[in-house]
Amino acid sequence: MVAVMKTPAGEARRPRPGGAQSPGAVKEVSSVANPVVKEIAGLALAKNRKASGRFIAEGLKLVADGVDAGWAIDTLVYAAAAGAQPLVQRLAATCHARGGRVLSVTDAVLAKISRRDNPQTVIGIFHQRLTAPETIRPTAEDVWVALEQVRDPGNLGTIVRTADAVGAAGVILIGATVDPFSPEAVRATMGSIFHVALAKASAPAFATLAGRWPGRIVGTHLAAPTDYRSEDYTGPVLLVMGGEQAGLSPAVADLCGALVRIPMTGRADSLNLAVATGVMLFEIARDRLRGDG
Ligand code: SAM
Repeated sequence: MVAVMKTPAGEARRPRPGGAQSPGAVKEVSSVANPVVKEIAGLALAKNRKASGRFIAEGLKLVADGVDAGWAIDTLVYAAAAGAQPLVQRLAATCHARGGRVLSVTDAVLAKISRRDNPQTVIGIFHQRLTAPETIRPTAEDVWVALEQVRDPGNLGTIVRTADAVGAAGVILIGATVDPFSPEAVRATMGSIFHVALAKASAPAFATLAGRWPGRIVGTHLAAPTDYRSEDYTGPVLLVMGGEQAGLSPAVADLCGALVRIPMTGRADSLNLAVATGVMLFEIARDRLRGDG
């Protein structure tokens, strides 16, 4: 059972020297003007996420996924009314054990942090985790997805979720892309952000990775000559997808050993990026997903 440390309503408790909360204590916060609340709400902005290396995960399931996957949690925030739930108490105890803060807050504070009228009752602030491209060492079974200049956080989150669903090892973001730790992207992963490795690579760093890739590099292109169903996906596979607007650049297409297209009929000129990635990933994983998977 965690101890409750009362603080005057709306007043931020000064951190103890070293910035730590008393071990096992839950801080009660009711004011949206509380500096800790402002600091956490500020993580909605990319510049603050970048500066602090932290991000917001909203919802009990998402936070439990992150904690159970061993991610470093900085702060657990929950609605006072949710504090008696056994799972919330377990998360609070784990957060404390890992040196994090635990805040019991009002609905108004939750709404301020999540910028929503109907906020989730549990929010976790986690430390970001990225894999350096030069440390990627694919095994024969591995599938990695590389996305060039993806712009839409919903697409990115959906792709991370789909990559998780087929057992892919990770997602590499090439060039200037949307922040994978934005609240929208994290929400769209439905917890898979904690289970799929994420890497960011500049164009030259991706070219280096492609140069030492030990298996197939398959790019997708609307004008590719080959039907995606005729390609060989013996691992390790690096699947390369173009951005929503510009598609695959010639420079990145040149790094691919094969270019494939997903045949379409009707009048759509292309598939949505996340849909196309899903089609490709399920084709690549076809054999390993047979039977009960
Ligand atoms: N205007 C862009 C273009 O000309 O490529 C459309 C990009 S599309 C929305 C985003 C990415 O999804 C593409 O770069 C490609 O990787 C993939 N994609 C979408 N539809 C595809 C298809 N029918 N065949 C192969 N790849 C496709």
